[in-house]
Amino acid sequence: MNPKDQDGKQGIKAGCHDDDLVLAAKKAREQAYAPYSGFAVGAAVRSTDGRVFTGANVECASYGLSCCAERVAVFKAVSEGCKEFDAIAVVAGSHEPTTPCGACRQVLAEFAPGARVIMENLQGDRTQALVSDLLPHAFSLRRPAQSQARCELNSRHDES
Ligand SMILES: [Zn+2]
Repeated sequence: MNPKDQDGKQGIKAGCHDDDLVLAAKKAREQAYAPYSGFAVGAAVRSTDGRVFTGANVECASYGLSCCAERVAVFKAVSEGCKEFDAIAVVAGSHEPTTPCGACRQVLAEFAPGARVIMENLQGDRTQALVSDLLPHAFSLRRPAQSQARCELNSRHDES
């Protein structure tokens, strides 16, 4: 359900299945591979058609190759043909609910700029924010006017 539909107003609204999404993230966290940091994270992303994809962080001895739970969940969804999301839950064993890192915020902005991010720790402390608030002015290559101009340029080139 689109959070906007619940009461007709825009803004952050609790979805009716947030608890289920958080539970899925918590369960996914159990599969984290984090032998180096010891910081296990689980994520669950919900598509606009109601499907849920989960992920856990996966580390590597070559640290830079590690991937966060949020990106694992989003990439799983995208690789299954799902590219529109309305919420993502992130669960970690931190004192305060953990927010997505900068790289994950950029990936979330790519596919779900209007999605809610629900963050919870193992004590059940929960907070939420919109992706657009977590990453204002996200990097983007989408410039419709420029893309259109390029298409026209290419088609003109093809004609000659
Ligand atoms: Zn991240």
